[in-house]
Amino acid sequence: MGGAGFRPDAAVPRAGVVYLVGAGPGAADLLTLRAYRLLRGAGVVVHDRLVSAEILALAPADALRIDVGKSPARHCLPQAGINALLVRLAREGRDVVRLKGGDPFVFGRGGEELAALSAAGIACEVVPGVTAALACAAQAGIPLTYRGVARAVTLVTGHTRGGELDIDFDAFSRPGVTLAVYMGCATLPRLRAGLLAHGLSRDTPAALVERGGTARQRTLRGTLETVVDAAPAWVTDGPVLALVGAAVGLATPDLAHAVAAAG
Ligand code: SAH
Repeated sequence: MGGAGFRPDAAVPRAGVVYLVGAGPGAADLLTLRAYRLLRGAGVVVHDRLVSAEILALAPADALRIDVGKSPARHCLPQAGINALLVRLAREGRDVVRLKGGDPFVFGRGGEELAALSAAGIACEVVPGVTAALACAAQAGIPLTYRGVARAVTLVTGHTRGGELDIDFDAFSRPGVTLAVYMGCATLPRLRAGLLAHGLSRDTPAALVERGGTARQRTLRGTLETVVDAAPAWVTDGPVLALVGAAVGLATPDLAHAVAAAG
């Protein structure tokens, strides 16, 4: 072998890099600049259901867009299938923007994807995004911490395991904690029952925020008692986050309107 230019690696494409990118709550101007740049240069975008059309439109027109989104009623691709897809695309030599709503590491299963990719030897980078709790609170004028009122914020899932809300009610019912409940719409009555049973008052301020961080954000304010009762009739089809705690009562109610008007 010599002058013919034998290249032992020629048949093996360079493996691509997978970027686990947080898309934020939906508004394109809440993307990080790093996410924006990656998206503008993307050849392949693998995205979830919650990623907005406005953000997907930022990828080049000829980028391959693969929707692996899951809706409660319709499972598009199981997690193992998504992991395998990312590994395959990277092994084909493609750089992949794996776009997730909010932040990839907050109830986004980004940790599982990262583990699968690194086990397969694929290079990976994680780009944070504005998670729903931050976007909802900001636009609703609800401070998550407040000197002398709330000294901790807890992000918790309302998803059940074996039909039970598998959360530490004792820790979450203490004063001075703001709870941000993701995926909790269906289990709000159980959440309330658990918090009340562990000593939280029915009058604790609470809010539901639908489509937080977007132009279509809606907010329902009240107490743990009233908000949970009103939820079924109030919720439409957008993602909803519940906020509970004394600091939620310090909200500046008109802020969301001010932001919308300014935009
Ligand atoms: N990784 C995402 C969360 C995914 S879990 C993040 O960091 O935000 C999906 C849940 O997030 C939804 O059920 C809802 O509770 C919440 N959520 C996501 N986007 C939201 C939004 N724009 N407004 C309100 N809640 C939202």
